[in-house]
Amino acid sequence: MHLGRYSFGIGDRFGRQGRAQLAALIEAKRQGVDIVPVWNKSNREHGIIGTKPADVRNEADAAVQAAGWGGAYFVDADHIGLDNVEAFIETSDFFTIDVAEFTGKRARSADIDSFVEGWRGLVGSHRIDGIREPVELDESRLRDIAGTYLAAVRQAGEIFRHVEARKGPGRFITEVSMDETDAPQTPVELLVILAAIADEGIPAETIAPKFSGRFNKGVDYRGDAAQFAVEFERDLAVIRFAVERFPLPHTLKLSIHSGSDKFSIYGAIAAGIRRFDAGLHVKTAGTTWLEELIGLALAGGDGLGIARDVYSQSLARIDELCGPYATVIDIDRRKLPTVAEVGKWTGEEFAAALRHDPACPIYNPNLRQLLHVGYRVAAELGPRFLAALDRYEPTIAENVTANLYERHIHPLFLVG
Ligand SMILES: [Zn+2]
Repeated sequence: MHLGRYSFGIGDRFGRQGRAQLAALIEAKRQGVDIVPVWNKSNREHGIIGTKPADVRNEADAAVQAAGWGGAYFVDADHIGLDNVEAFIETSDFFTIDVAEFTGKRARSADIDSFVEGWRGLVGSHRIDGIREPVELDESRLRDIAGTYLAAVRQAGEIFRHVEARKGPGRFITEVSMDETDAPQTPVELLVILAAIADEGIPAETIAPKFSGRFNKGVDYRGDAAQFAVEFERDLAVIRFAVERFPLPHTLKLSIHSGSDKFSIYGAIAAGIRRFDAGLHVKTAGTTWLEELIGLALAGGDGLGIARDVYSQSLARIDELCGPYATVIDIDRRKLPTVAEVGKWTGEEFAAALRHDPACPIYNPNLRQLLHVGYRVAAELGPRFLAALDRYEPTIAENVTANLYERHIHPLFLVG
């Protein structure tokens, strides 16, 4: 089972916008680019909203039917480990195996010895097409890298085999994610990690390394974009080198997590995948629900009232809401508007402050990040919020589709 060359993480907090999201992919297809939708919702998000993995499957199936989507689509068990995979087995056909917590845990020395023995052929100086300087690996470095990553990859193998035993071989897509580790992986580390993944027999379709810079939720990349471009192309080069030599799927590609809204690196990503003729998977940060808020604000009336209420309650509960996301948001509290100020805004002003348009002078990334974690408040509004989503559906859908197509799909997959 293969994922396809380009794929994009979709789905949303409240499970209402699948059809509007598919409309963006249908437009891409009309422009000649096939992108496979992958619904994903993390365990954390399920806990806060009170949904179950089966709800995501139902939403995906219903949206695909309603939109008349004829292509492949998947439902991702996002960032799972052995302790929480069970709830996802039946309804997911894509498993993102997260072994970040095993990274740095030392493998048994006998395991390291046999790994180093088996991959002695990797010791030396490699000319990797696409990387200017030779990639050097001596035995002690090989041993060090195995010491850092082997236990994590072994764990990934264990999770993969567990899922495979339950679902059957070839019945699901596997991603290995290492994006939540502390340090980015160097090219030579990625090479050794891929060797270990091949050793474990994991037919990984995607791998999510950690890149340098910050991938905060719902806002632009923060870091050195030129440095990112170099890292990204090196990773592409290493993957191309590895799939030609190791028993790995030839379709293995990079996966970028929290990839929505990273406008300042989309040019580098688009250029990289073209230069290397590579595929790409992009996961998003679940910001579609912010388009719902934008749609509500623009609709005016009770829609704008709900948008203001979500803001005022989020501001009052800022510590509680930001807690679970502390490492992936950066809010400058001095730059948050007061409830009184927001109370005077028109729907257009509310939408402009929230919409991720860096060129707009009143766009406020602090407000955007706070509202992004404020979905718990919207969930607690319950029927009032959900009824407004139904009532203002056309305005909301328009914003959901435009955000996905114009700000994400187009710059990533349709330029050049
Ligand atoms: Zn991730």
